[in-house]
Amino acid sequence: MDMSVTPTPVSGQPDSVAPDIAEVGVIGAGQMGNGIAHVCALAGLKVVLADVKPEALERAMAVMGRNMDRQVNRGTIGAEDKMFALSRITTTTDYAAFGTCDLAIEAATEKEEVKRSIFKALTPHLKPSCLLASNTSSISITRLGAGTDRAEKFIGMHFMNPVPVMKLVEVIRGIATDEPTFQAVQALAAKLGKITAVSEDFPAFIVNRILVPMINEAVYALYEGVGSVTAIDTSMRLGANHPMGPLELADFIGLDTCLSIMQVLYEGLSDSKYRPCPLLVKYVEAGWLGRKSNRGFYDYTQTPPRPTR
Ligand code: NAD
Repeated sequence: MDMSVTPTPVSGQPDSVAPDIAEVGVIGAGQMGNGIAHVCALAGLKVVLADVKPEALERAMAVMGRNMDRQVNRGTIGAEDKMFALSRITTTTDYAAFGTCDLAIEAATEKEEVKRSIFKALTPHLKPSCLLASNTSSISITRLGAGTDRAEKFIGMHFMNPVPVMKLVEVIRGIATDEPTFQAVQALAAKLGKITAVSEDFPAFIVNRILVPMINEAVYALYEGVGSVTAIDTSMRLGANHPMGPLELADFIGLDTCLSIMQVLYEGLSDSKYRPCPLLVKYVEAGWLGRKSNRGFYDYTQTPPRPTR
């Protein structure tokens, strides 16, 4: 079911055509950035992928290669599709390479000051017509856009993890986002084979407004001793028919990202029901971030992963 909503044109707004997107820049080569680069390259777009860490770029290319191999083995793409897709991706630590991009998608760490400093360094290198999107899970699109030189071309494009598998893209307009920008990212999402849902610019949008407080509640259940990691995850898998238990899912998302989203909800909605669980805070302080650091609610150095509580 296509849940995308076509907005009523604002009267007096000029009827302009959505710009075509042939080249995409992606900032942040972590689990989301490499997934976004993956689907864009397979859809025939040129991709420039940037990160502050050269090793993150190397890892991202290796991950994309392995994930595309899986698609080749399943027969969903051909071996030549993989080869051409990977050849369309260039990696860089220098934003000067973004000068020909039609759209730049920021997918770096979920911290407002990180994203702000990226936009400040990036925008002088973009052509004036380049659209700018953030894959933020929770931060205000209006506020992020206002800190750039192109609030009207700024939009939220929230992909789901893992990007090559998950169908949904949430599209979030800031108060200043113009219609051609909105139409252009809707068209891009369709080209990537995704289905869009439009969310208003509220903290954490739709998916994470509902999902992450549930994860936080699962961490409270663990913290208060209601059940063990295994009991909580088994209960939600078999009792609520969730494909993954909430603690397993938290490790998959990244505990730092989950905590940042709870903080944005707590501060943005000023409601104590969004208070991050102290155990989640402690895990992040310990550097136990889930799968990406090999330890979270499970220890991923063991096969199968061993619950840590
Ligand atoms: P991640 O930790 O896997 O990757 C973040 C990457 O950003 C790292 O490679 C890091 O080196 C890079 N980075 C940090 N500072 C940078 C800078 N100044 N310039 C360039 N690169 C920089 O995180 P992730 O899970 O890929 O999340 C990225 C974004 O996507 C966040 O905004 C997150 O909220 C959002 N998101 C995450 C998920 C999820 O399930 N993890 C889902 C949807 C959206």
